[in-house]
Amino acid sequence: MYKLDPPALLFESSRPGRATTYFPASDVPERPLDELIPSRFRASSVADIPELSELDVVRHYTNLSTSNMSIDSNFYPLGSCTMKYNPKRNERLAALPGLGSQHPYQDESTLQGLLAVLFELQEFLAEIAGLHAVSLQPAAGAHGELSALLVAAAYFAERGEQRAKVLIPDSAHGTNPASAHLAGFEPVTIKSDGRGLVDLEDFRAKLDDQTAVFMITNPNTVGLFDPQIGEISRLLRERGALLYLDGANMNAILGATRPGDMGADLMHYNPHKTFSGPHGGGGPGAGPIAVRDFLAPYLPAPLVGRREDGTYFLDRDRPRSIGRVRAFFGNTGVLFRAYCYIRSQGPDGLKRVAEHAVLNANYLLTLVRDLYPVPFGDRCMHEFVASARGMARDRGVRAMDVAKRLLDHNVHAPTVYFPLIVPEALMIEPTETESRETLEAFAATLREIAVEDPNRLHEAPLSTPISRPDEVQAARNLVLRWRKPEPVSHGSA
Ligand SMILES: *Cc1c(COP(=O)(O)O)cnc(C)c1O
Repeated sequence: MYKLDPPALLFESSRPGRATTYFPASDVPERPLDELIPSRFRASSVADIPELSELDVVRHYTNLSTSNMSIDSNFYPLGSCTMKYNPKRNERLAALPGLGSQHPYQDESTLQGLLAVLFELQEFLAEIAGLHAVSLQPAAGAHGELSALLVAAAYFAERGEQRAKVLIPDSAHGTNPASAHLAGFEPVTIKSDGRGLVDLEDFRAKLDDQTAVFMITNPNTVGLFDPQIGEISRLLRERGALLYLDGANMNAILGATRPGDMGADLMHYNPHKTFSGPHGGGGPGAGPIAVRDFLAPYLPAPLVGRREDGTYFLDRDRPRSIGRVRAFFGNTGVLFRAYCYIRSQGPDGLKRVAEHAVLNANYLLTLVRDLYPVPFGDRCMHEFVASARGMARDRGVRAMDVAKRLLDHNVHAPTVYFPLIVPEALMIEPTETESRETLEAFAATLREIAVEDPNRLHEAPLSTPISRPDEVQAARNLVLRWRKPEPVSHGSA
């Protein structure tokens, strides 16, 4: 599994007696430990803390910090996740004491600036969605899905309607069916048609009076805008069912169209994708949800409200609310960065975000599609899904080999094997923040890999500390803790 020497753990570099600080001998009489700390409070054994010099520690962490692929150092075309550049300006603003040093238990009167920002963000997100009310509480996109589905459940419960099903296209993100299940619904899969869009026939066949919600990602995970959305919304309305828009791909349509205008009743945002919040490694995120007026009473409380006199308050008096879904007001650090991004772009800037996201993806698509065929669509929105099926058949080179080889070229791998409706999928999203030169260099790399010796590709990556871990073992038998090796026995047994 290791191509190069594995990086040593701090525990392995430890040498007895080595330290970062050496204290002079004590010049006061020593007192027995028992007098200072009663024995019942003391550990019975000495903890295995590595003994290291300062230089050992500094080098270890400095090297670790540069072993990662990150958007600050590498191109990161991770489809569906929108790893766009996070302006450093936002980080500086989020660290201002007026924000960074606030505490959620402070009195509201001392939090007016922060509450004003959150209130305005609610308004911006409602406007961008074309919907009426917003809760900033959910902790991430998936959590927004769950919260919004609980809102839908509360709405139907109050109407006395028994609706058990949530319809979800087979191209959807796995969080959609998971959220539907957690919210107490039965997820029902809708097929995609030959164009990669919702199969309307299958949709019509499965839409019935049991249907509570249809969840759609538009543009979808294949990078296509589904123009049937108006028809879909009309059919749902006829049946009294709700349309949910998974907003993970909002950066493709900002300012060009709005979920509310497409007929959506509820949606979530992923500020860490659309509005430049830094993410990766599982967080931190936020997942604000926006809803149509008749669903507003059920939103998680509190919302941020504004009084007649212009002061802001936490509106807790919402008797039909589904309740709280997260501590305090949500992940304010991430929300604040989204606010900064929206304010710094302005309405025209947000529209340009979408235009450039779509332009960049289409340019890249054109540069590589002869070698990496794209099964669905001649054009794409903000991302496209190529298939390595031909390569796999003709040369035994799989999407995974391409992804692994990209690491040797200092490029983060695209998303692979998702969405499931494309075999050997390579899901590529360049984002709006990349330059033409970066896109062309990436295309050249992809083209080089497409004709490289397959044996070399099977061995890639050749330049990383760990090459190809056993992924099943890594998932099933994850070892996160160092354990002291058993002393080697030289006995005769
Ligand atoms: C990322 C994503 C989600 C989940 O959002 P998180 O913020 O990661 O929880 C849901 N749907 C789609 C289409 C996504 O790309």
